[in-house]
Amino acid sequence: MNIFTNQIILKRQEMIQMLNLISEWDICIIGGGATGLGIAVDAASRGYKTLLLEKFDFAKGTSSRSTKLVHGGVRYLQQGNIKLVMEALKERGLLLKNTPHLVKNQSFIVPNYKWWEGAFYGLGLKAYDWMSGSLGLGPSQILNKEETLAQAPTLDPEGLRGGVLYHDGQFDDARLAIHLAMTAVDHGAVVINYMSVEGLLKANKKICGLAVKDMIDGKEFEIKAKAVINATGVFTDSILKLDNQKAETLISLSQGIHIVLDKEFLPASTAIMIPRTDDKRVLFAVPWHNKIIVGTTDTPVVNVSAEPIASEEEIEFVMHHITRYLSKDPTYADIRSVFAGLRPLVKGNNKLTSVLSREHFISISDSELITITGGKWTTYRKMAEDVMEIVIPKAGLPEKECITKDLQIHGYKEAVDFDSPLYYYGSDKEKIQSLVEKDSSLSTLIHPALPYIMAEIVWAVQNEMCMTVEDALSRRTRALLLDAKAAIETAPQVANMMAKEMKKDDEWIKNQIDIFNRLAKNYLPISKHELHSADKLKTIN
Ligand SMILES: Cc1cc2nc3c(=O)[nH]c(=O)nc-3n(C[C@H](O)[C@H](O)[C@H](O)COP(=O)(O)OP(=O)(O)OC[C@H]3O[C@@H](n4cnc5c(N)ncnc54)[C@H](O)[C@@H]3O)c2cc1C
Repeated sequence: MNIFTNQIILKRQEMIQMLNLISEWDICIIGGGATGLGIAVDAASRGYKTLLLEKFDFAKGTSSRSTKLVHGGVRYLQQGNIKLVMEALKERGLLLKNTPHLVKNQSFIVPNYKWWEGAFYGLGLKAYDWMSGSLGLGPSQILNKEETLAQAPTLDPEGLRGGVLYHDGQFDDARLAIHLAMTAVDHGAVVINYMSVEGLLKANKKICGLAVKDMIDGKEFEIKAKAVINATGVFTDSILKLDNQKAETLISLSQGIHIVLDKEFLPASTAIMIPRTDDKRVLFAVPWHNKIIVGTTDTPVVNVSAEPIASEEEIEFVMHHITRYLSKDPTYADIRSVFAGLRPLVKGNNKLTSVLSREHFISISDSELITITGGKWTTYRKMAEDVMEIVIPKAGLPEKECITKDLQIHGYKEAVDFDSPLYYYGSDKEKIQSLVEKDSSLSTLIHPALPYIMAEIVWAVQNEMCMTVEDALSRRTRALLLDAKAAIETAPQVANMMAKEMKKDDEWIKNQIDIFNRLAKNYLPISKHELHSADKLKTIN
């Protein structure tokens, strides 16, 4: 049951007031990415007093930087990780059932240029179909050359023998994160962004709460909790160290980048899956919000960062592979945006991060800090269920059944037309349209090259805890990922509109634009790349 009475869905100040009203929380979650938000939904929907704290914005970390696939993972099938694939395929089906407004059935072509590839990938993908069981999204098919080109007309026809068509799911990661936050709140949770956990409180050597700091006004709070869950992704080790300076590190970092191109490079609705890159991985080119996302890479990195940056080599790697497969080669000037994310992989002995497990991992420290990490966006629900089954007895909470297998996610709406504007709001779409009915100026596009209208900015500030220009352009809308230059150009307009809504002054506006511009320039392809030509790239081996 929603404890916030005035129809405001996510309002930060009201949430903060709850910190003073609730003397002890049942469950306190550190981290507002897919993992933490999934746990908040699970815990709140079971009826526990649930608090989630996020240092930056919801999904600011890895959870807004994925390939946007809800998938079993064809790559993990290649690696023979049947358990992970079967679990993820089941979760894919549940996510599609409970979030039909955000997750869609996406067809993929695996192009075949070698004689053996049709039979090889055809068989593998039949196994993938079989593993999905009743939650399958449609049977895979072996196609001849003409049928393959009908699905993906911009594939390089030279040497093409045919292709294998298969199905997986696709979604908007940051939007799902916001809707998970709203679902948690719909069930009574308190979720707060820009609230950093700075210390762990202990009594008798056991964790009993948290010291937290509001990153916006600097206020500090002490919070009591029966159970504390560390769901901080690539920052997992820093929370483990807050618990115990001598704690062993758990996480290996692997960076993955994507480039974003205009739709003309893949004009049909079918995505491409390149089954074997030079480093023996897979590479996707997937239609997304009328653009194409191409990626990803798997580069071991040492330093953790909330704002990772794609390297020249990574951009070159993605461009090199995609130009091999397309009839019209993109150049660096065609790249609309580049974004990078860090995978929190559970450490193994192997130095290659691409073979470290994507399965999730749960640990409990001597002081009863519960840590969950690894996994995938696709499996967030199962990760939450698994950790809650451990937390409930550990924290002495009354047993309550997990209900998330059948829980509709905020915005739930059936029969969504994925080509219609604002579809990604699901059942909230009408509320945004009603803002436009009251003030027609809000129907103006935020930028001619971007598909978002001003009403979305107003809605995000009023109802989705959108606090900064970056929140608005990176995660409430996906402007920064779709077209970084356009996002930079519209930042002043968006800052002004936000300032009006939030009653902020000119200094705030200037500051917000400066901060956003500094961050957004890392999403523009590195300028020296403009000197390269696609032909030059093709010669790189
Ligand atoms: C390149 C790439 C592509 C991927 N593609 C896919 C895909 O297509 N499909 C799929 O299923 N999975 C994909 N994944 C995996 C998926 O994105 C991750 O498994 C998932 O997002 C991890 O979520 P998380 O919540 O554990 O971590 P995060 O999203 O990083 O969340 C952790 C949060 O903790 C917060 N935090 C840190 N310290 C503190 C503190 N002291 N106080 C409060 N908060 C704190 C951080 O700010 C952060 O927001 C991909 C991953 C990468 C890197």
